[in-house]
Amino acid sequence: MKIAIIGAGIEGLSVALHLLKLGHDVTIFEKSDLPGGLASGFKEKNWRWTLDKYYHHFFTNDKNALNFAKEIEHDVLIIRPKTSVYIDGKIYQLDSPSKVLSFSKLNIFERIRMAAVLAFLKFNPFWKIFENINTADFLPKAMGKKAYGMIWEPQLIGKFGDSSKNISLAWFWARIKKRTTELAYPKGGFLEFENTILKKIKVLKGNVFFKSEVSEIKKIDEKITIKTANKFYEFNKVIVTIPSRQFLKITKNLPDDYRKKAEKIKTLGVLNLVLRLKEKFLKDNTYWLSICDNSWPIMAIVEHTNFVDKSNYNNEHLVYLGKYLQSNDKLFSKSKDELIRIYDPFLKKINKNYKEFLVDYRLFKDEFAQPVVDTNYGKNILPCETPLENVYLVDMEQVYPWDRGTNYAIEMGEKIAKLIERNEI
Ligand SMILES: Cc1cc2nc3c(=O)[nH]c(=O)nc-3n(C[C@H](O)[C@H](O)[C@H](O)COP(=O)(O)OP(=O)(O)OC[C@H]3O[C@@H](n4cnc5c(N)ncnc54)[C@H](O)[C@@H]3O)c2cc1C
Repeated sequence: MKIAIIGAGIEGLSVALHLLKLGHDVTIFEKSDLPGGLASGFKEKNWRWTLDKYYHHFFTNDKNALNFAKEIEHDVLIIRPKTSVYIDGKIYQLDSPSKVLSFSKLNIFERIRMAAVLAFLKFNPFWKIFENINTADFLPKAMGKKAYGMIWEPQLIGKFGDSSKNISLAWFWARIKKRTTELAYPKGGFLEFENTILKKIKVLKGNVFFKSEVSEIKKIDEKITIKTANKFYEFNKVIVTIPSRQFLKITKNLPDDYRKKAEKIKTLGVLNLVLRLKEKFLKDNTYWLSICDNSWPIMAIVEHTNFVDKSNYNNEHLVYLGKYLQSNDKLFSKSKDELIRIYDPFLKKINKNYKEFLVDYRLFKDEFAQPVVDTNYGKNILPCETPLENVYLVDMEQVYPWDRGTNYAIEMGEKIAKLIERNEI
């Protein structure tokens, strides 16, 4: 069967490889010049490894991703990095039950109460009961206002902004449930991992067109036509792995009720400044620092080289400054120089001399990066089958209750290939 895949993110690559293994004729269309989408990367001169545009790792319980890495023979490192929070101008390691129980900003009763709530979420497998519960209502009642207000509320606001008041407890449950203290990282970086998948796709004679943005999907009789620039292609089936808003934009003849349902899913954009430094930024070796202070314009500082060895990057220290926000937020249109000026006084609170060691910095942004998982989210998710027969939408917005991630993109890719093979969709 002649099948087109729109998007060469992890999802598109995964479904392509599985369909090729089943003997289909597969063509991928990707608007960028590289694979990987949100999990893509770049490489500077003298670096041995690529670096992800946005901080990425696997959890050690990301079974689909880790098994897939084995299947494509791509090595993965397992590392135990340090995760911390920034509160009232200080850094506290907070990444294990013993660290929670010794967290000095709360008294012993507050610590035990917070630890008990986190343990309840971690060991409870029944997420459905949390679906319609609001995280911002539940957590202060369950763990106490002080612990919530100090640690969790600023992180929820940092991640979801105005929507933070209505985030489903199922989403929070999933974050706690999935978290592992050890993390995994593909050798060479995520872009290298995606290049390995691409090589396998090419060995199986898959067609991959980069710099080929699909501007129209149309169904005429039994064939589906795809338009890129001024070229038209025909397929029996089309699998779309791009965000639903973009799918609506490029697809003709979708009924109004489908469009209205799709528009109910809200997503946030992401802004990420990557600093290249000659010295460490987080001197206590923290990899992931959640900023629990909403006066900061940054949600997390992630020092990649406190996780992966700096020798892979010509001994540079690499730091991400991440922030989710709506694409109409005024920060979203700022240049990298404007952003560093805005971030500078905040960064100096942690490392006042960092500018002396700054080699360069790069800015990455994407408009569709994080679905807003509110208490109605489960009801609004679009099915894979669209109103156009043989056109399927398989994107990260369908990952639920888990937080979207490469593990689920890989899993969904395999699942859709099997459903197509069995003629079940
Ligand atoms: C800041 C950040 C941190 C993250 N951290 C992690 C992490 O640590 N671990 C983890 O597992 N996951 C993480 N994720 C999530 C992970 O990146 C995504 O879940 C995953 O990459 C989604 O893959 P995808 O293929 O579904 O979508 P995408 O990556 O969005 O891929 C879609 C592709 O379609 C292409 N495209 C779009 N429109 C068109 C068009 N019209 N024609 C042709 N091509 C088109 C895009 O260029 C893109 O390549 C993170 C995401 C962000 C934003």
